[in-house]
Amino acid sequence: MAELPHFDVLVIGSGASGLAAAVAAERAGASVAVATKGALQSCNSAKAQGGIQAAFGEDDSPELHTEDVMRSSHETADPELVQILTSSAPDAIHWLEELGVEFTRQNGGYRLARCGGASRHRLLQVGDRTGHAITKMLRKAFDASPGVAFPNHPLTSLESTPTGWKAVCGDETIDADTVVLAAGGRCFKEAEERGELSTNHPGATGEVTRMALDLGAEARDLDALQYHPNGGAWPTNMLGYSIPETTRAYGATLLNAEGEEFTDPLGPRDEVSAAIFKEVEEGRGVETEEGRPAVWLDTTRIPQADAEVSLPYMLRRYRAGGIDPLREKILTYPVLHYQNGGLVIDADAQTTVEGLYACGEIAGGTHGRNRMMGNSLLECVVFGRRAGKAAAEKART
Ligand SMILES: Cc1cc2nc3c(=O)[nH]c(=O)nc-3n(C[C@H](O)[C@H](O)[C@H](O)COP(=O)(O)OP(=O)(O)OC[C@H]3O[C@@H](n4cnc5c(N)ncnc54)[C@H](O)[C@@H]3O)c2cc1C
Repeated sequence: MAELPHFDVLVIGSGASGLAAAVAAERAGASVAVATKGALQSCNSAKAQGGIQAAFGEDDSPELHTEDVMRSSHETADPELVQILTSSAPDAIHWLEELGVEFTRQNGGYRLARCGGASRHRLLQVGDRTGHAITKMLRKAFDASPGVAFPNHPLTSLESTPTGWKAVCGDETIDADTVVLAAGGRCFKEAEERGELSTNHPGATGEVTRMALDLGAEARDLDALQYHPNGGAWPTNMLGYSIPETTRAYGATLLNAEGEEFTDPLGPRDEVSAAIFKEVEEGRGVETEEGRPAVWLDTTRIPQADAEVSLPYMLRRYRAGGIDPLREKILTYPVLHYQNGGLVIDADAQTTVEGLYACGEIAGGTHGRNRMMGNSLLECVVFGRRAGKAAAEKART
C-alpha cells in the first residue's frame, strides 16, 4: 500500500491563526502542511478591517489591556490566556512588521484608535484593510517556506493513530505527528439557519469544532455568539457588511428615529448591540426601504481627515452604493459576527486532547463570553505562534 504523505505538523485552516501557526512551526524546524477548505485567501481574517490591539500608548500598559478584556468579558475570560494575550501583543506586532506588515503611523508613532470597551487608544490599523494586510504577509512568509499547501482540501475526518493523527482532507489522507485546528468559527452557518445576516465568509461553518468534540476535546462558551453592533442595513450592496467600529472611535454616534443618541458608542459590543435591539423593539427604530429594522449611525461627525486615513475602503463601498457617509447618516443593525467560545486550550494552545492544538476563533477562553474588537486578530497571531511552536516541539518527542 502506498505510504501516506507525512508531516510533523498539519494545520487545518488558512486564516491568520492557521498561517501564523504554520510559519511558527516551520521556523521551529518542523515539516508543515496547511489544508484548507477553499482558496488560501478565503477566510474571515482577510475581511477584518478595524484593526488589532496592542498597548503601545504612553498612558497604556498590558495590565490596562488585561483589565479592559476582563471587564468587557464580564469577568468570564480565562485570566491566564488574557495575560498571555496582552503581554505578548507588542511582540506580535513587531513580528508582523518583520513579515512586512506596515501599520498606519502618525507623529512618529503608531496611529492608535480607541475601540469599544477600551480605556485607552490601543487599536493599530492598516487603513481599514488590516486583516487583508496581515494575511497577505503571513501567506507570503508561508509561501517562501518549504511548507506544503492543500487548498480546496476540507478536513472531513480526523482520527488518532499510535504515532499521531490521520486526517482526510479532500482527496488526500495525511499522516501527521500533531495537528493544529485553525478552522475558525461558525457564524455563517448559524446565520443561515436563523435566517439572519452575517459578516462571515461562507467557510465559517463549524464542522471542525464538531470533529474535535467527537474526539473528546472540551469546549466552553460555545453558545455565546457575538453580534457586530453595526452591520450595514442599507443600501442593498452593504447588507451584512461590518461597518468598522473605528467609525465610532472617530466620532460617529448612534441615533434613533427621533435623532436622539441612545447609547455610549464606545461601550462593549454586547451592550451596544443590546441597546440597538431595545431601541427597535420599543418602536424608536427606523425602517429601511426594504422594511428591515435599523437605527442611524451618524458618520457625518467623523472628521474628513480621519476618514481618509482610517476608513477609505468603507467610504469607497458606500459611495459605490450612492451614499456618502461623510454627508449623510447611514442605516445600521446588528449582524451575527463572531463565535466567542470554542475549544478549551492551555497556554501552549493545546486542547484537552494531547497532540491536538487549537488557535484563533475555534478556541475559547481568551475573550470569555464577549470579545472586544481588535483582540481576535491579536489572538490569531499570539496563540497561532504558540500553537505552531508547541506542535513542532511535540512532534519531535
Ligand atoms: C468582516 C469581519 C471584520 C472583522 N474585523 C476584525 C477586526 O477589525 N479586528 C479583529 O481583531 N477581528 C476582526 N474580525 C474577527 C477576526 O477577523 C476573525 O475572528 C479571525 O480573523 C478568525 O481567524 P481564524 O484564523 O481563527 O479563522 P478564519 O480567518 O475564518 O480562517 C478559518 C480557515 O479555516 C478554513 N476551514 C473552515 N473549515 C474547514 C475545514 N473543514 N477544513 C479545512 N479548512 C477549513 C477556512 O476556509 C479558513 O481558511 C472580523 C471578522 C469579520 C468577519
